[in-house]
Amino acid sequence: MTSKKASCSFCGLSREEVQILIAGVTGHICESCAKQANQIVAEEFSSNPQKESKESKKLSVKFPIEIKEALDEYVIGQEAAKKVLSVAVYNHYKRLNAEDNSEIEIEKSNVVLVGRTGTGKTLLAKTIAKLLNVPFCIADATVLTQAGYVGEDVESVLSRLLQVADYDVEAAQKGIVFIDEIDKIARKDDNPSITRDVSGEGVQQALLKLLEGSEVNVPPQGGRKHPEQKMIQVNTKNILFICGGAFDGIEKLIAQRVNRQTIGFSSSDEPDIDSESLLQYINATDIKSFGLIPELIGRFPVLTYLEPLDPYALKRILTEPKNALIKQYERIFQIDGIKLSFEQKALDFIVSKAIEYKLGARGLRSICEAILTDAMFDMPSSKSKSLKITESYAKGKFNKSKMAKLKVA
Ligand code: ADP
Repeated sequence: MTSKKASCSFCGLSREEVQILIAGVTGHICESCAKQANQIVAEEFSSNPQKESKESKKLSVKFPIEIKEALDEYVIGQEAAKKVLSVAVYNHYKRLNAEDNSEIEIEKSNVVLVGRTGTGKTLLAKTIAKLLNVPFCIADATVLTQAGYVGEDVESVLSRLLQVADYDVEAAQKGIVFIDEIDKIARKDDNPSITRDVSGEGVQQALLKLLEGSEVNVPPQGGRKHPEQKMIQVNTKNILFICGGAFDGIEKLIAQRVNRQTIGFSSSDEPDIDSESLLQYINATDIKSFGLIPELIGRFPVLTYLEPLDPYALKRILTEPKNALIKQYERIFQIDGIKLSFEQKALDFIVSKAIEYKLGARGLRSICEAILTDAMFDMPSSKSKSLKITESYAKGKFNKSKMAKLKVA
């Protein structure tokens, strides 16, 4: 009975006179009134962004378990890092959303990721930023120098963040900055230097300024600061900094520390140290011994590690993530109506080459390219509509490629 009489509560047209009638708790709205209402709201917000409620500006932050699950879709293994990072990110954005007058100020959870190159450090940071839909940029610590020296000022890191945020300062202030190769700006010995150390300690000191949560004057175009350039003020208080580094040789420092600590234990309660995977015991002392200054370490309360990738992990990386390489190639061929498939042994061959060339996951793509380039060249215009990559096909193509001619280091 009600449906017969139902009509749009805005324009009054009856059910029969409209195409769609959406029911609310006490009334209805037809499709054209809904469209109009949407237009009014959009126009109002674009002319007066302040009207957007504070609530809607809050980032919608998922629970740590959900963040971890989302990371699982893209990053293989690295359980410890994913868990620690999910918690750090959750706490960081929770703190940001809950900015209130509470007397307890929650500190930022900047993160250091330690792990060999190509183990997924950048991928982790990038995936988190995508998940939260916040501006994200990658900076290389090795190109930074302290003010007054040749190279980029540390503020240029924020220029990049502003650029990706389309110069929306407010958005940039909630972004994520990934600083790669932080280990390369370690000071060379463990003693505080008396002389200036341009490449190392000086840059660490300069970075502190960004991490302290202060207003920083940022040159909009990056590069060096020019006196005549107009600066943009960016507050770094809510920017999440994630640093990554391989910290080559840190295992030795961990071993020394762990051994020192275990001396004195009686054999019965000797702790179970897994000497194959020392990275799991990493702590702030080790990165200090490596050459990061204590002030900087203090700004990175969260420290975690990424495991080296074994053949099993590499094979999973090839096939499992949402945008796994093999899935990407299958899709590329599928667009031309070609069914591409891989024999397990061909995948094993690709993995073995990645290991042989010491390229880690980074090498998988160039090896696949070497194997598939001929097929990608010929197949779109050929009549054949399927291609199975067997081990011998993969070997044949790879051995003829330029890559195979490179000497393994
Ligand atoms: P890192 O920053 O540790 O040097 P990246 O995150 O840049 O390494 O990884 C290089 C590439 O290797 C990534 O683009 C990704 O495709 C792949 N990769 C590395 N580690 C993983 C992983 N654990 N899971 C999925 N893909 C990975």
